[in-house]
This record gives sequence, C-alpha cells and structure tokens, in this order.
Amino acid sequence: MLFRRVLLLTAPRRAPASIYSQYRSLQIQKNPYRRTNDSHNDQDQRQRQYQYQQIPLWQTRRFWYTTGVAGTGGAIYYQVHLEDSPTGRRRFINVTSDDEQQAGLQAYLSIISQYRNQLEPRGTPTDLYVRRIAQRIIKATGMQGDWEIHVIRSPEKNAFVLPGGKIFVFSGILSVAANEDGLATVLSHEIAHQYARHSAEKLSQASLLQFVYLVASLFVDPSVLQIGQAMSGLLLELPNSRQCEQEADQLGLYFMASACYDPREAVGLWERMKTAESVSPPQFLNTHPSTDSRIESIKKWIPQAETKREAANCPNPEVTRSFFARALN
Ligand SMILES: [Zn+2]
Repeated sequence: MLFRRVLLLTAPRRAPASIYSQYRSLQIQKNPYRRTNDSHNDQDQRQRQYQYQQIPLWQTRRFWYTTGVAGTGGAIYYQVHLEDSPTGRRRFINVTSDDEQQAGLQAYLSIISQYRNQLEPRGTPTDLYVRRIAQRIIKATGMQGDWEIHVIRSPEKNAFVLPGGKIFVFSGILSVAANEDGLATVLSHEIAHQYARHSAEKLSQASLLQFVYLVASLFVDPSVLQIGQAMSGLLLELPNSRQCEQEADQLGLYFMASACYDPREAVGLWERMKTAESVSPPQFLNTHPSTDSRIESIKKWIPQAETKREAANCPNPEVTRSFFARALN
C-alpha cells in the first residue's frame, strides 16, 4: 500500500494509460446501450474524455499531500499529549482543567433545570447523609475544588459525576447502597472518575474525532460530516470504557478505605446491585458494565485497600461497636 502511495505521488500528473482510465475505456466499449450512429459519435467521444478526467479522489496528489501532512502532524500531536493515568495507564488528554470545568458547568445547569422539581432540598436528613459521606471521601483523596453533591428524588437506581466534580445521586440507589459503606462505594467510584479525569479523556477523544472530520471535510460531502459530528456528541453520552470503569473501581476502593469505610462492603454493594439487576436493570449498571468480573477484581484489591485503611489510622470498627454497646448498656 505504501509502495502504491509513493508511486502515486511520484507519477506524472497526466498518466495516459493508468489502470483506472483503461478500465473506464473498457467499460465504455462494453456498454451494450452505447449509441453507435455517427451523429452521436462526437458526443460519445466528449463523454469518454470527460470520464478520463474523473480521477478518483485517492488518485489525486491533493488527497495524499493533505492526508500525509494531517496524519504526520496528528501522530506527533497525539504522542505529545499522551500521559499516565493514576494507575499508570497511557491515555490521550488534550483538554485543560478549565475546559473540563466549562463543559461540566453547562451540563450541570441543564441537569439542575431538568430535575428542578425533584431536587432534595438542602438540609434534609437524606441530603446531609449523602453529602457527609461524599465530603469525607473527597477529603481522603486530597482533592480541592468546588464540589457539588445533589440528591434527586427518583426511583432510578443511578448516580453519576459531571466534569468538574458535580455529583448527582438518585434516591432509588440508596436502598441498594443499604448502609454508609455501601453508599461510600457508589460515591467513591464516582469521585474516582473525577480524580482520574475520565471526563477529560472523553472530551479529548471527541476533539480527536473532530480533527478527523475536519480533515475529511476537505474531501467528503458535508452531509456525511454532520453524521460524524453527531457521533462525536454521542461519544460523550456513551458509558465509560471498561478500563475507566476498572480504574474507578480500584481507586474508589482505596479512597473509601482511606476515608475509614470498610472496603469489604464494596463486594456486598455490587452483589446487591446484581440482585437488583435480575429484577430490573439499574441505570447505574447501564453505564457500569460486567458485575461479576468487577466483584472478582474488587476482591483482589481488598488487601491493598485494607493497608490504606490502616495507614489512615482509622478507629477499629470492633472497638467503636463495643464502645457504643457499653454506652448503651
Ligand atoms: Zn463508573
């Protein structure tokens, strides 16, 4: 293929006997509907000449120059913007934290407006409960920033985070969370998505696609590009990749442990989520695939999470429990 490209670039501008033109002329000769009387011979000749000039796009120098320059430039740009995620995964990021904040703010305002009649008012027990757990985990991550945590009154079993640290928890998930450690599992997973800048990753992938469309727009019908642009919008709506999900599970487990929640409870949460799934699939799972394999991975990370919990000098849950038991007696 490369050899052919080189040939095309070095070939003379008018190749009188190119494979393509020979093929076209054969086609014309074999055409059974071709008019044969003399009065149409001139027209036929003109048509044939016109068809000789219709060189396919990939046989034009402009195409190969443009794709060559864009391809080389794009590859260098891509390489320069590769960085390590918190778990050491190489990924492409070309958006700044400000871009991320901006994208998050727009989405945040639209969600607030969409659910304005269902937002749990500030200061209610549910609002305080969810925000207290979230704040404790955020503190354990050492992250700064303007976090916003909202509960939406809805039977949906879902929670999500928007770029810039805007967390939404649907009250339906609280019954699956069952206890503080269960809810800490959900919240720490969402906080981990933000910590690892997974939304920046998605925004970067969308910008990469837009670059491809920009190059393609030099050659392709604009209507095709509109479909492409709609697809790049859809990319942002798509669930996180399996790798991002795994990373959020792993980091989330460490964060909840550092915030003195019991990491072993994460297994219980995902098992309850699996049970809920057999009745009616929780929306949380729509965007968070493969429950069985994630439970297996979480079990593998628990020893390391326990180490983090010990390092955080957390009160021993058994001691706390017996202290309260003595106080009650
Ligand atoms: Zn997730």
